[in-house]
Amino acid sequence: MSNKRATQETTRDDDRTAWIALARCRDMAPRIFFPSDGPGVEVARRYCAECLVKTDCLEYALENQIHHGVWGGTSERERRRITKRRRDKRLAENPGGPR
Ligand code: SF4
Repeated sequence: MSNKRATQETTRDDDRTAWIALARCRDMAPRIFFPSDGPGVEVARRYCAECLVKTDCLEYALENQIHHGVWGGTSERERRRITKRRRDKRLAENPGGPR
């Protein structure tokens, strides 16, 4: 890979993850956001509710198909639903298009 291409890809990666610097959970224990039960999900959700980068966090998780943990204030099940809803919408708008 050329240095120029590597630099462009690094810049793109930096753009996609710049929101992490503003994440409310940045200095918190990761286990809070990977709960093992419903009450734990609610605890994580409360932190996410006041996070400035909630939308970026959710989109990152959806884009990267991250299945575990609470991201952008959503549980794993909620992200599956969002993904399915978006896929169904895309298919309805463009039946022959990519899934
Ligand atoms: S939305 Fe929640 S998991 Fe995402 S960065 Fe903010 S606090 Fe962290």
